[in-house]
Amino acid sequence: MHLPNRGDTICALATAPGMGALAVIRISGRETFATLSRLFKTMKGKTKDFATVRPYSIHYGQLMDQHKVVDEVLVSIFKNPHSFTGEDIAEISCHGSVYIQQSILQLLQRNGIRLAEAGEFTLRAFLNGKMDLSQAEAVADLISAQHEGAHKAALQQLRGGYSNTIRELRTRLVDFASLIELELDFAEEDVEFANRDKLLELVTELQREVRKLQESFASGNVMKNGVPVLIAGKPNVGKSTLLNALLNEERAIVSDIAGTTRDVIEDHLIIDGIRFRFMDTAGIRHTEDTIEKIGVERTMQHAAKATIIIYLCDPAQSEAAELQRELDSLIKGSGNNHAMVIPVINKSDRFDYDQLLKDYRTFNNVVFISAKESRNIDELKAKLAGAAIGSGESGEQSIVTSARHAESLHLASSALQKVIDGIHQQLVTDLLALELKDAVYHLGNITGEVYTDDLLGNIFSKFCIGK
Ligand code: GDP
Repeated sequence: MHLPNRGDTICALATAPGMGALAVIRISGRETFATLSRLFKTMKGKTKDFATVRPYSIHYGQLMDQHKVVDEVLVSIFKNPHSFTGEDIAEISCHGSVYIQQSILQLLQRNGIRLAEAGEFTLRAFLNGKMDLSQAEAVADLISAQHEGAHKAALQQLRGGYSNTIRELRTRLVDFASLIELELDFAEEDVEFANRDKLLELVTELQREVRKLQESFASGNVMKNGVPVLIAGKPNVGKSTLLNALLNEERAIVSDIAGTTRDVIEDHLIIDGIRFRFMDTAGIRHTEDTIEKIGVERTMQHAAKATIIIYLCDPAQSEAAELQRELDSLIKGSGNNHAMVIPVINKSDRFDYDQLLKDYRTFNNVVFISAKESRNIDELKAKLAGAAIGSGESGEQSIVTSARHAESLHLASSALQKVIDGIHQQLVTDLLALELKDAVYHLGNITGEVYTDDLLGNIFSKFCIGK
């Protein structure tokens, strides 16, 4: 993949596209001040040389297109290397009409400044050493964070989070790798620069750290993307009705015909700052109907991935013993012993409440609701929030939230394991050196100490323009 030219001076709208009270246009690169000095006049009609003004200063004046005033603006000045990109930056605050925004961008382009590509400002910040790759990715996460969990995870990563740990561990590994390389240079003389016991010690410690980070991905993913919740139960127990009640919207199609919610509908709900991701499925039913059968298989697949399973029961369909059998077969069929299962007795409006309490009293965490009449939905929500604490909220420890990092950690961990096995089996030095190199490479991929243009292109193209 081709990366944009770093020598150019770039500009882009930094605020959201569309009309607003104000808009901010950002310029970065070596021609920033010279260009702006040509286009800017103070309110008294004087020119200003931005190359000589104080850094972190703000200037009030007019942007001029020849003799025409484009807008009255405020210009903020940041001088390299003390700016977001590490280059000279100017931020123009203008009036927020789309016409003005476009006029200024066009004016800048006519004066030799090119429109930035997606993520190009952050790409420059990375290439100029202002942040490492995992921090650059955190910027994108921070901007797109829509709930507290995602915000917290992104902020932790932006502040350095685990990339500091990884960088430190990798440096120690690099030192060892170079000792091993040195041995290769003296292959004839049968010397051992890298003490194998010490290497084993370090690699084992690394492996432990990497595994810990790997495991944190499960909860990191939850913080970022939400707690996966499955609503399961036989057809017609009220799953779609419950989803509607939870989301207060007519998202799912409610129907009297058994098994009509055929497609899996996903939706989100935020309770106490925690995001829940719902999956409503076709229900658990053994059937010959092929579409429905896919539904059952999907339910099992989702159940395998769910952190919380809301298992709905219609007392008219399943008395307590039958419900227990259904729950057992769900757990067995999905192979998920870790999910928190909340048995939910629905349609309580149709039954004697006290009798229901008695009939289903043996079930842990049981909740009695009427999805149709929105009864006790708050109690169910409170149960959900309670269940999520412990699955997603892991305090201050390092948490991996990026799938890309999880993949690199996985590859690093396999390579480290090969090194460990290799030392035990007294593997020849050149093979050991290869495995070490592999581990060093994958760890470096996370922080960006090693990268390819493809990797950068891939990451930064997901940013929005102007970031
Ligand atoms: P699903 O197949 O599990 O998704 O079930 P639906 O949500 O489509 O509901 C099946 C039928 O049960 C519909 O006629 C709903 O109106 C009805 N129903 C759902 N929840 C309740 C409830 O709490 N009380 C009563 N009386 N009927 C309900």
